[in-house]
Amino acid sequence: MKYIAEPFKIKVVEPLRMTTAEERREAMERAYFNGFALRAEEVYIDLQTDSGTGAMTNTQWAAIMVGDESYSGARSYYHLMKVAEDLFGYAYNQPVHQGRAAEKVVFPVLTKPGQYWLSNTFFDTTRGHVGLAGGRPVDLVCPEGLDTSTYADFKGDADVEAMERFIVEHGVDQIAGIVMTITNNTVGGQPVSVGNLRAVRALADQYGLLVILDAARFAENAMFVKQREAEFADSTIEQITRESFAQADLFIMSAKKDAIVNMGGMIGVRDNEEIVGKLKSNVIAFEGYLTYGGLAGRDLEALAVGLREALDEDYLRYRLGQGQYLGARLEKAGVPFQNPVGGHGVFVDAGKLLPHIPWQQFPGHALAVELYLEAGIRSCDIGSLLMDRDPVTHEPQQAPAEFTRLAIPRRVYTQAHLDVVADALEAIAARADQVPGYEITWEPPVLRHFTAHLRPVKP
Ligand SMILES: *Cc1c(COP(=O)(O)O)cnc(C)c1O
Repeated sequence: MKYIAEPFKIKVVEPLRMTTAEERREAMERAYFNGFALRAEEVYIDLQTDSGTGAMTNTQWAAIMVGDESYSGARSYYHLMKVAEDLFGYAYNQPVHQGRAAEKVVFPVLTKPGQYWLSNTFFDTTRGHVGLAGGRPVDLVCPEGLDTSTYADFKGDADVEAMERFIVEHGVDQIAGIVMTITNNTVGGQPVSVGNLRAVRALADQYGLLVILDAARFAENAMFVKQREAEFADSTIEQITRESFAQADLFIMSAKKDAIVNMGGMIGVRDNEEIVGKLKSNVIAFEGYLTYGGLAGRDLEALAVGLREALDEDYLRYRLGQGQYLGARLEKAGVPFQNPVGGHGVFVDAGKLLPHIPWQQFPGHALAVELYLEAGIRSCDIGSLLMDRDPVTHEPQQAPAEFTRLAIPRRVYTQAHLDVVADALEAIAARADQVPGYEITWEPPVLRHFTAHLRPVKP
């Protein structure tokens, strides 16, 4: 697999500090073996997340200078509205400060207490906000989505038949609607086909339900559709985006992903003035006046430019190619991962790589710690550490898979950086049986993976 070269050149550089193995050991001990507590300066290659960590272009930075900071009716707001209307085709578009702000505004308006929301898989903050609004989130991904070893083109698809069974079984009054996450972040950034979005739309129409797109990675999803769904081989990314959004009634978006800004989010409503009216009240209460929605004018301007840049096919080919290159190197080294590689990074199957570590000792976290100690690479657990305890019994819960996520920031790292990551994983794989499991010495009641203290388990 050949690396697809960057369709840009470097204009500004940010020096990185190199550390010794001894310094990294000390830093990890001080951080209670939790990468979130490291100082970013102690990290060489930071693959913790692709959220808000992308590099903006010279055009975006220039747009920041022309941002209009008027409280209401700013020029930058109208610029963003024009771009969003053209791209998504929705009547109402609303900036907010990030993705979870959109969730906080939208779900209370559309949820009656106790109602279910169905999804191809909820992202954790979305799941959280459905719960806070009194709703009950249900994940119904297609069976291939949870099988890490076999290839499928669209592992992010919803299981539409299972959704219909659920609706029939519980009664349509008990269902608030359907959320489709594109790409499906939690199962590994796996794409969702337009065919699946259309099938969900048809199901929702049959039962009179709303469909919401959680569209943080809409452009990466569209590029996968172009590459893998025959009907769209000759379509532009813009056309595929339009067709995808046409299958939903609302969208919520973290703009910190594909729109390549460091902070921002959006809400869109296709054509429902009643819903728009209710959303506006929440926006003003939580985010600020409608024409800035928690963002500075310069942020609106950078977002307007970023949304357009996200559609560039040369960029998307390179972007998806980075993950695929890293995946190909890992395959050669015999390191198991969610296959095929998703849009925003590689999900290494730590459960398979470290079979001697039981899930109660967090294989995904163990590999993340080891990667840092080996080469200063920060990643994170998407496994049983991320799973909180059962809210009722307080028993630990086993995740469906024990992943270590290597999220790739946009336009930030080079091929040589990815080689450092692959080399480090190869070295760890060669001494996999010596990697220790971890136990928790302190944890908060919820969202423990951010702040928990851990220590290695002595063999
Ligand atoms: C990141 C993300 C969110 C939350 O967005 P924030 O900007 O982090 O608040 C919601 N949904 C998906 C699919 C995401 O990837």
